[in-house]
Amino acid sequence: MKRALLLSLFAAAAAWVQITPAQVTKAETTDISGERIRAHVKFLASDLLEGRGVGTRGGDLASEYIATEFALDGLKPAGDNGTYFQNFALVGADPQPNTSLSVAVGGVTLPFRWLDDFVGVTYQQKPTVDFDAEAVFVGHGIVAPEFQWDDYQGVDVHGKVVVFFTGEPPSRDPKFFNGEALTYYGRWSYKFEEAGRRGAAGAIIIHTTPTASYGWNVVRSSWSKEELEMKLAPGAPAVGFAGWVTKEAGERIAATQNTTADQWLALADTRGFRAKPLPLRFRIHASAKIREMRTRNVIGKVEGSDPQLKNEAVMFSAHWDHLGVGEAIRGDAIYNGAQDNATGCGVLLELARAWAAQPQKPRRSALFISVAAEEAGLLGSEYYGKHPVMAAGKTALALNYDSLPPFGKISDVQVHGAERTTIFPVVEEAARRFHLTISPDPRPLAGTYYRSDHFSFARVGIPAFSIDSGHDLAGQPPGTGNRLSDEYNEARYHQPSDEYHDAWDFSGMELYARFGFAINREAANAPKLPTWHAGDEFLAARVASGVREP
Ligand SMILES: [Zn+2]
Repeated sequence: MKRALLLSLFAAAAAWVQITPAQVTKAETTDISGERIRAHVKFLASDLLEGRGVGTRGGDLASEYIATEFALDGLKPAGDNGTYFQNFALVGADPQPNTSLSVAVGGVTLPFRWLDDFVGVTYQQKPTVDFDAEAVFVGHGIVAPEFQWDDYQGVDVHGKVVVFFTGEPPSRDPKFFNGEALTYYGRWSYKFEEAGRRGAAGAIIIHTTPTASYGWNVVRSSWSKEELEMKLAPGAPAVGFAGWVTKEAGERIAATQNTTADQWLALADTRGFRAKPLPLRFRIHASAKIREMRTRNVIGKVEGSDPQLKNEAVMFSAHWDHLGVGEAIRGDAIYNGAQDNATGCGVLLELARAWAAQPQKPRRSALFISVAAEEAGLLGSEYYGKHPVMAAGKTALALNYDSLPPFGKISDVQVHGAERTTIFPVVEEAARRFHLTISPDPRPLAGTYYRSDHFSFARVGIPAFSIDSGHDLAGQPPGTGNRLSDEYNEARYHQPSDEYHDAWDFSGMELYARFGFAINREAANAPKLPTWHAGDEFLAARVASGVREP
């Protein structure tokens, strides 16, 4: 009964993307090898590559290696001027402790202490920015027409400081901010961008642990070191100061208005919220060390076999960068990034080789993209999204690999975001073929979908998701995968101890590679381009890119 239901569901869904199960052919993936993935990982994670930092010799060596492998596999260069490289500039802004912030209200000045009460950096890529400006409370700082939500309605915030909370209005309705799961509107990066687009001089988040999903210690440590950003185009909007204040600092500001931060948050959560001009001024001196550097994405292409459809593509991606050489821990200063993300690069390179070796190429072309500067905030993939080799509206599907665990045979996989697209029946069918269960996101509220490179592609409308490790390992007690991942996060994640070991078992990685290969092969041969389901936050971008609603 259950099986029959599944089959009929699949048939109905498959008909929707105009393929029938009979056409879902067995992918020629027998040639994908975990041991070849191992060879790439061992090299990319070696001390010789010095942690593959952006703008360093080790990073250049890593990207050169990937380009060389693409060439050996017979991929065509798809970067700038007939090369495999897509070059771009980054700007580092390192906030300095003489940054100051105070609030003037009713003849009184409230000072706030750097790191203890507030953090922040200018997004204008200048060494100093000073202003003394009026403030407006804008709730969650969200403008989401598809949910009939506009926190900026009726106010002009040009030259002012906007104050808001991160997160989004609470919802259990899947049609309103995707229910309990976080949308991109809830992320601080969106809110600072929106404030910049509206001409705000500054933007301040009042931190609370529930709205941010992490404590002040995380904000404090990640905002007190150099921030890498895409180099601003001349005249591009950016806030002069993007900052956070603690809940306690927020309470002091709210108290001047005879209210509390919790009351402000309750207002922000309420349908029909209207922005409130605040009778106070922010005085801000933002000071930062600014430097410019260059880096590059690596892009290779395998041409499709169909004379028309070869002008469309499927994509595979994995970021090559890691944290370089940094603070020594137990005498080791090289942040090798073996799992994060030499593993994804190893899978990408093996997929490129196997795809190029197919005697009969799929109808659409395939792009293999190793992006830079993921660790700095998905910058390489953002650059690609804005400067695609194949237009977003000509790109069927993007599959990303980031930090795959080397613990051997797997029984499940996570593909968050896939269920939001019309390609999902193909993903489910591939999972069945490889005897993989699709496991749910254990923390939907944390917004993990927005923290890996596939998100940069989704933002321009491309159906995109990462193929991530599941909760379990084959033949082990349930949750073993989770337990080993927790151990990794605790002991090795973003530390010099994320190193390659000969004892690593690559059989799980081999299966993640085969699974992605099979999915993209179907997407490359399907008659129609996949898209996002009705009501999805990325559907408007997909339609704008020229792919009509299903
Ligand atoms: Zn990382």
